[in-house]
Amino acid sequence: MTGALDNEIKRLMELGLHRRCVEGYIARVAGITLEINRLKREKNAVICAHVYQTPDIILGIGDLVGDSYKLADDCRRTAADIIVFCGVHFMAETAKILNPSKKVYVPSGNAGCSLSEAVTGADVRKLKAEHPGMPVVTYINTSAEVKAESDCIVTSANAEKILRRMYEKHEKVIFIPDRFMGANLAKVLGKTPGKEIILWNGTCIVHEKFDASLIRLYREKYPGLVALAHAECPSELISAVDFMGGTGDMMRYVESTDAAAYLLVTECGFGELAKLRFPKKNFIAMCRLCPYMKSITLESVLALLKDPSPQEITVPPAIAARAKIAIDKMFELAA
Ligand code: SF4
Repeated sequence: MTGALDNEIKRLMELGLHRRCVEGYIARVAGITLEINRLKREKNAVICAHVYQTPDIILGIGDLVGDSYKLADDCRRTAADIIVFCGVHFMAETAKILNPSKKVYVPSGNAGCSLSEAVTGADVRKLKAEHPGMPVVTYINTSAEVKAESDCIVTSANAEKILRRMYEKHEKVIFIPDRFMGANLAKVLGKTPGKEIILWNGTCIVHEKFDASLIRLYREKYPGLVALAHAECPSELISAVDFMGGTGDMMRYVESTDAAAYLLVTECGFGELAKLRFPKKNFIAMCRLCPYMKSITLESVLALLKDPSPQEITVPPAIAARAKIAIDKMFELAA
């Protein structure tokens, strides 16, 4: 066992995890990742890890890693019997809808999302009655019930492209539930909120609070700084940065450019991962923690693999069938 633990410590160090240099950290993490990876093989389980998870989860046990779109797309092709979703509840529901024969779990009972909780299926039915004939384009951060009432799902990675396709056939579109992302996209597309794009009042509790006035101060302090912000941020902040996108877009931007420093305005896990992937680049922290994402720990993943029953994700088949049509529409239009 000591040999196996030593090898696991070496593996994690090669991935850069030792740079989080709290004494004893790497040995403690290695003991848990070793056991989780053994249980994964034994149970034929795959671990999906969203980029807002902590690096010990992403690098230590993650098999499929990425943003909402990549994880939804990747888990369609997994041969595993069990999907353990280290992300939030709506992401696991999406995985279940796309993989009805597999068992899907979230290793936390607190992995909700303020955006997902901002709108219900009844709200969407009311919106559709108020705006007859308008297609409902829905951000993936929503419940299966809301997806079932929608015409097409989008993620931050493909929302602009899909909305452009929608406007080829429709003059007006309903976009739910993120009012900031909706307003940011409306600006890019030259559409007027309330007229050509009907928005809902949902917000992300992480991204709604960033202070746009700080961007100028960071630029003064760090000449040559490039500021990147997630599309869920308010429009005032988006106007102050150099690039808006989803986390996948932001990571590609960092990879393909060579700025003096990068200011990443999003959840803190993304910056931690970027530092590990690009150790020679200079990152400045302006981030917030998502309490839902951070409710998952290595310990909770281990507990789930030992006794998964309480946290299985289920979606009623009739809702799943309708939601899948809207999700498949996303894959078709994003291709
Ligand atoms: S960061 Fe915001 S959108 Fe993402 S899970 Fe947390 S609350 Fe939801």
